[in-house]
Amino acid sequence: MAEQERIVVTAVVPLDYTYNYRVGPYLERYIQELGGKKIMAIKCGGCGKVVVPPRKVCGECNRVMDEWVEVGPEGTVENYTVGHVTLNKGLIEPADPPVTLALIKLDGATSFLAGEVRGIDPADLKNGLRVKAVFTDPAENSLTDLDHFEPAG
Ligand SMILES: [Zn+2]
Repeated sequence: MAEQERIVVTAVVPLDYTYNYRVGPYLERYIQELGGKKIMAIKCGGCGKVVVPPRKVCGECNRVMDEWVEVGPEGTVENYTVGHVTLNKGLIEPADPPVTLALIKLDGATSFLAGEVRGIDPADLKNGLRVKAVFTDPAENSLTDLDHFEPAG
């Protein structure tokens, strides 16, 4: 029996979903403070971890965290990646210029915050680079009010 030729059909289905959900009191305050150009973290009274974005329970010692502290607006790049493609409604498109995403340890925090670093050639991005937060102005009462980071200094 002769082997049949297999026919492959490719279907491209752009994805465009909108989700609305309540973020809870910790992220609500975090977002409100971003509007005032402040980055607020939460400190654990048990182990001393300072976590941003804030969350209710410490991942280290399971204690409820309730001490608010301001961190940043500057910090240090601890790790990063450079993206040469982006997703736009489920479709892969070239990123021009490339997108640089970094894990940033804000001054005063013990956790990392992921953020885009702009204003630097991706080849010049390195661990230990000092960066500062750039806020959306005017504020939009959104997580995107902390828009991106750029080299400090
Ligand atoms: Zn703790």
